[in-house]
Amino acid sequence: MVKYIYKEFKSVLNKLKYPDSWFWARYTLNAYFGCAHACIYCDARSQRYYLKDFENEVIIKTDFDKKLDLRLKRARTLLPDVIAPGGVNDAYQPIEKKVKQTRKVLQVIAKHKFPINIATKSKLITRDIDILKKIAADTWCTIGFSISTTNVELAKFLEPYSSPPSERLEALKIIKKEAPKIQVGTYFIPIIPFLEDDENNLEDVIKKTKETGADFILISPGLTLRDLQAEYFIKKLKKSKYQHVVKLLLNLYKGQMHPPADYVHKMHLKLFSLSQKYNLPLRAKRWIPKDYRKWNYKISEILLNKEYIDLIKTGISNTTMKWAGLKLNNLKESIIDVYKNGRIDQLEGFYKKEINIIKPYVEKFDKKTNLDKFL
Ligand code: SF4
Repeated sequence: MVKYIYKEFKSVLNKLKYPDSWFWARYTLNAYFGCAHACIYCDARSQRYYLKDFENEVIIKTDFDKKLDLRLKRARTLLPDVIAPGGVNDAYQPIEKKVKQTRKVLQVIAKHKFPINIATKSKLITRDIDILKKIAADTWCTIGFSISTTNVELAKFLEPYSSPPSERLEALKIIKKEAPKIQVGTYFIPIIPFLEDDENNLEDVIKKTKETGADFILISPGLTLRDLQAEYFIKKLKKSKYQHVVKLLLNLYKGQMHPPADYVHKMHLKLFSLSQKYNLPLRAKRWIPKDYRKWNYKISEILLNKEYIDLIKTGISNTTMKWAGLKLNNLKESIIDVYKNGRIDQLEGFYKKEINIIKPYVEKFDKKTNLDKFL
């Protein structure tokens, strides 16, 4: 039985150094601590999170919405940007139905007109379509359902207290139908080797995602196997009908945390080809602000997406392109102004290689007058 504890926490919002190209989030927040979804592969069990018994003892942070309201109201230097609730917890875990902690947080986010990106394994999120719709209309709202198998029995074993995959897909469909402005997709993450990486499952998840009317699918082959989390996962597998997978996994990982690069590359190629077959982008469109950051964000999106798709196709990461894309997010003025003032070659914090990557994009976009078509 899960124990719920109310506890006060001071901090409500974390600012990330750079938004990434997966969720495009600049801020994260956690209104809960711990997660009663208790997925057997959850990384929250690893030592780096210092969470004890995270699935049996869930903390509900008191007055979280009020504190967030104050934080967003008082912040002079806090520019609106994408907030992602739920790190090592699901914002729609079972207790949310009763305490409405996430719903209250959404109301504050809507009030301050910040964009949002939520990942969940629960159909409960459909309860909040009214607020999510408002956020999408005012700024930007993206919702991703984590779905890594369509096999009911396997999903029950891996994610015992989440909504079954069919209900997550149904929820996705409902949201897209009732609120087309909300960007929705599937987080096909993790894809566990020997349990979920067969051709049938890969195709079924992508096909069923497409059938819901989803806008994107994010993919991540493999599962991180880290200290206590790995121990717990392997122990559960050994006691299950999937015990034969243990030996296969240990042979593949060879004591490492991640599967080998050639396995990941092969999987990427398969998934890329399926995403093309079903015409489902492997990236969500990012939120673009209307202030000076708009071109920085747009060009950053183009660079980060290009680096990602090239990595998927070739297995090689263009780190210079990645850094150029990441750093653009933190530029304190518009890249277009920098270019027009002839200062592009002196861009502080950017090295020559990165500047050479940015330049063609800035020149190309500066010649166009209709910049707003991207926004
Ligand atoms: S829903 Fe997410 S945070 Fe919660 S147990 Fe599952 S993997 Fe962990």
